[in-house]
Amino acid sequence: GGHLLELRDLHVEFRTNEGVARVINGVSYHLDAGETLAVLGESGSGKSVTAQAIMGILDTPPAFVRSGQILYKGEDLLTRPEEQRRQVRGKEIAMIFQDALSALNPVFPVGWQIGETLRQRAGMSRADARRRAIELMDLVKIPGAAKRIGDYPHQFSGGMRQRVMIAMALALDPKVLIADEPTTALDVTVQAQIMDLLADLRRELNMAMILITHDLGVVAGVADRIAVMYAGRIVEHADVRSIYKAPAHPYTKGLLESIPRLDVRGQELSTIKGLPPNLMRIPSGCPFHPRCPYVQQVCVDEFPHDLVLGDGRTSACHFAQEVRDDSVAR
Ligand code: SF4
Ligand code: MG
Repeated sequence: GGHLLELRDLHVEFRTNEGVARVINGVSYHLDAGETLAVLGESGSGKSVTAQAIMGILDTPPAFVRSGQILYKGEDLLTRPEEQRRQVRGKEIAMIFQDALSALNPVFPVGWQIGETLRQRAGMSRADARRRAIELMDLVKIPGAAKRIGDYPHQFSGGMRQRVMIAMALALDPKVLIADEPTTALDVTVQAQIMDLLADLRRELNMAMILITHDLGVVAGVADRIAVMYAGRIVEHADVRSIYKAPAHPYTKGLLESIPRLDVRGQELSTIKGLPPNLMRIPSGCPFHPRCPYVQQVCVDEFPHDLVLGDGRTSACHFAQEVRDDSVAR
């Protein structure tokens, strides 16, 4: 059979007064049951917009899916009738966001908010929804769940609020959980705890997960594969070990070199020079060429299509092989 979730050549534009921003330019990726894919990139690379397209929450007027398919169990969510889409989105595919505080309603107790999903979408009675809400709060390891079910969002720490969000997302037993920068707003210790929780849940519940992040440092222990996005495209796609061992795209290499390493003292961290492109005027040839330390004339002239490097890994770089070998030699 096919994949659980598959994006095929997705294109999304933002139509603004200043012009058309091409935010997603032919993204394809897939996810199988129980698997975790990390989608990595700077802000504006299109990683969140891709997720919003999957969830059908691109409704901000100027956003427009120009072409492509989003297949869930082989059915294209973009062309299914609204009713069927609603069955999938929020139920089979759930999403958590960076900012738990603004995603939760401040005037209702958290237990009521978790229960609301169960009452509305699973038709549970108030008593059953309450019981299930406590179970879910236990599942995400909120201490004293039964006592805290009546507390309001502001009575929880940032980390505990993110756990509440995760509990809500899990309420309808999703097959896919999309986590968009789930730890960015939290301090480092709490970040690690939330990532551990997500890794545990994914194993216990055999969920597939799309983990969206700008931080290559947080994905190592959690993801199976990584898709690196730049200017609305996937520029490198590989299993986690291959990427850490030897990135095959200069952008990925730059991201890796900007993570502090525990085993190297007094290191100078490099950062990628320059800024992501204006999506209304994406550079010619390779969109990364103005920032790339490996740039050659061909990069300015010719768009680099995916090169397949073995083990199914791909890199959209004219010099993928050389970059990978250079990474190994380092
Ligand atoms: Fe750099 Fe050229 Fe590769 Fe683009 S194609 S990433 S500019 S080396
Ligand atoms: Mg984002």
